[in-house]
Amino acid sequence: MTELNRRTLLTTAGLTAAAGLTAGIGLASSDAAATPKPAASLQGAGFYRFRFGSKTVTVLGDGDGFLPGQPVFAANVTQEAFAAAQKEEFQPTDRVHVPMNTLLIEEGDRKILIDAGAGRFVGDSFGRQPIGLANAGVDPTQIDTVIITHGHFDHFGGLIGADQKSRFPNARIIWDEREHAYWSSAQAQSDVNGSALPQAFKDVSISALNTVLPKVAQQNHLVRGETEIAPGVQLLPAPGHTPHSSVVLIESDGKQLLYASDTTLLPAQNAKHPEWVSLFEADAEGLVATRRRLLDRAASDQVLWFAYHASFPALGHIRAAGKAWEYVPTTWSWA
Ligand SMILES: [Zn+2]
Repeated sequence: MTELNRRTLLTTAGLTAAAGLTAGIGLASSDAAATPKPAASLQGAGFYRFRFGSKTVTVLGDGDGFLPGQPVFAANVTQEAFAAAQKEEFQPTDRVHVPMNTLLIEEGDRKILIDAGAGRFVGDSFGRQPIGLANAGVDPTQIDTVIITHGHFDHFGGLIGADQKSRFPNARIIWDEREHAYWSSAQAQSDVNGSALPQAFKDVSISALNTVLPKVAQQNHLVRGETEIAPGVQLLPAPGHTPHSSVVLIESDGKQLLYASDTTLLPAQNAKHPEWVSLFEADAEGLVATRRRLLDRAASDQVLWFAYHASFPALGHIRAAGKAWEYVPTTWSWA
């Protein structure tokens, strides 16, 4: 009910009549029932939980912000084409909205987290995953598995806390072994330094690699290629964004959810324009091939699509549209 409507009802019909009207149309009056509390400074609880077959899935928001669109997020697109495409999506024409989201999968005693968030590496707008996890009633010590989809700091930075210690001390940390070996190598650091990324990105990437990876190394559980992590939780190769990036397919009761990680950095734009690439890609052609393969599968099998950098709760479907696709965000439900 808008402020205007509420005031109108209160003054013209009186409080009792207003309450009666609300009840009469089947709506509980939250205004009347709830004790007013000071407004929270954040929009929500930071988590979004739902049943997915026999599993409980919880999206944990890690934060969001705006970053320059070009050349970082659309390196092979003209200024005009980028601005026009952004306008079509009701987005700013010079910047991109960059949210971050991670996923918790629970079944029985198992608690599997996919990606750890940015941690303390990019300021207070990110690294909020601990808030959502706490509000969802999960203690980090209960997490038995953390899957890291690739070696970018926004996905693994949150493996350590402000105290510089492992945030998930009882978890095995799963990586594709080739991805982990690459990001542990001098080659990765020289590739980052030699890339066209802005200096700030290079600095934070290298600092996170050097700070985080050694501190959690004893928890590593390295796998190679397609691997079943738990029943209905499968790691799948998705190379391109980084040399050996992974995605995670979650299946339960005939339904499929794809943790698509960064195969669509800008899901609405990358579905419509699958050829767009960012300055982050290790192998742009490889990424486009991976993206097309996954989008095609998601569209034909009605797979729920989770994109790490989509707007919270980062879930949608993929619809075929001519030679490309469209990203259709899901509806949001209280329960
Ligand atoms: Zn990312």
